[in-house]
Amino acid sequence: MSNCCSSSSCETTHPKKHRCPANGSEYSEVSARTIAHHIRDALRWRPTANRYFFCDDPACDVVYFGDDGSTILKSQLRTRVGVKELSNDELLCYCFGITRGDFIANPANRDFVMAQTKARLCSCDTSNPSGRCCLKDFAKPEM
Ligand SMILES: [Zn+2]
Repeated sequence: MSNCCSSSSCETTHPKKHRCPANGSEYSEVSARTIAHHIRDALRWRPTANRYFFCDDPACDVVYFGDDGSTILKSQLRTRVGVKELSNDELLCYCFGITRGDFIANPANRDFVMAQTKARLCSCDTSNPSGRCCLKDFAKPEM
């Protein structure tokens, strides 16, 4: 017990993942700050949950959901969520404006993004609606 938080696996009392109420899969946490950067009418948004999560399933209309069961749908955002759309015009990298089509045409775009990330010139935590680094979206093979 006393050693609990000396290990990085100490997440049992504060699970990082939560199930999307629409599709039932588990997704990672996203900050309310990220949501505020993408929700339509952010001025009037009042977060009701303690924690929020991001659903990246293209077949699911829910983008964000709270631990209180609240949901925020695609239609409530002013940002189009690239990983939830299948078109090549959708953004993968929100920091530097690289679309899925750009990446397919020139896979080296990923190296550019990786270099920028290493140099800490990216702002995925707020620019990307997932709140996470976009590099994982570049790696997806099924496109
Ligand atoms: Zn979902």
